[in-house]
Amino acid sequence: MIAAACYDAKPYDRRYLQHAAGQQRIPWRFYEFHIGAATASTARGAPAVCVFVNDQIDRACLEALAPLGVKLVALRCAGFNNVDLPAAKLLGIAVTRVPAYSPHAVAEHAVGLLLTLNRKIHRAYNRVREYNFSLNSLVGFDIAGKTVGIVGTGKIGRIAAQIFCGFEARVIAYDPVPAPEWAQRHGVIYTDFPALLAASDIVSLHLPLSPQTVHLLNAQTISRLKRGAFIINTSRGKLIDTTAMLEALKDGRLGGVALDVYEEEEGVFFEDLSGEVLQDEELSRLLTFPNVLITSHQAFFTHEALTEIARVTTENILRWENGQPFLPGTTL
Ligand code: NAD
Repeated sequence: MIAAACYDAKPYDRRYLQHAAGQQRIPWRFYEFHIGAATASTARGAPAVCVFVNDQIDRACLEALAPLGVKLVALRCAGFNNVDLPAAKLLGIAVTRVPAYSPHAVAEHAVGLLLTLNRKIHRAYNRVREYNFSLNSLVGFDIAGKTVGIVGTGKIGRIAAQIFCGFEARVIAYDPVPAPEWAQRHGVIYTDFPALLAASDIVSLHLPLSPQTVHLLNAQTISRLKRGAFIINTSRGKLIDTTAMLEALKDGRLGGVALDVYEEEEGVFFEDLSGEVLQDEELSRLLTFPNVLITSHQAFFTHEALTEIARVTTENILRWENGQPFLPGTTL
């Protein structure tokens, strides 16, 4: 049985991956550090490597992996913006991902972030623990009747839209590849991107990061938002220009920002830095705003999603070892 080297491996990764392999045990080698060109040599003897969102599988990394006999990069996530796919193809390295593990997990977290931020539940929780039962400055707004703009109506965006419909919000959406039947069924109205920005009280991002979508929300697009609009980003940090977002928060254009992802999250998110000095000035500044709520890329983090991620990743490694095709839709 082939060895597989798993990078950025946390205790929960080990638990779920080992459990998923069942009887067909994969001899996993778990590494807590990231893989990149500098650490690629640690994959020696492991033809399959298993990586996560902040591992940089760029050309240099792939060129270091290929001579070691690495033939498979199994991403245990959906997004693949961190992999140089043309370079992998050229070097004969297959790349797989887990395209959908639990879109509900991410959509529910996006809505949970908004509810927490808007109704200030995180602040109330801390207050009450200190026997401060005052309601001063905890006022929020009803989501019912507000306009929610969903950017990207793929698997996650559609579920988020449906949840917001359940709140009796008016839901509008933008996607270059719209799903008109779905929209009609749920009463969602498609519009173009500028119109979505102008009309939304809340904008929730559910599109992939690509060269075309980097800084989709920038100084210019943010300036088109309604004054006091809320932004939710559970997709990828680089969809938002952080500097422009900070300016808009300072001048009050943005009423609130809920983030599960951050432009420079690599090396910070998923890590316990509680004993250290945070070096990222913009992240430090963001954390000072009372109307900003940040979680550390945990939207996917449910039992159902971890089970599915481990199942698909393990199954693909075993299939590859046995010369069988990968699970449908998982090959990049
Ligand atoms: P999906 O592929 O099912 O849907 C993405 C949608 O975005 C598609 O309908 C596509 O047409 C649309 N799109 C592409 N470019 C667009 C643009 N410029 N403007 C508007 N829409 C555009 O993907 P999904 O499963 O719904 O996931 C969405 C994103 O969520 C992923 O790309 C990933 O980055 C992120 N994600 C985050 C977490 C987390 O834990 N925070 C977990 C999983 C996925």
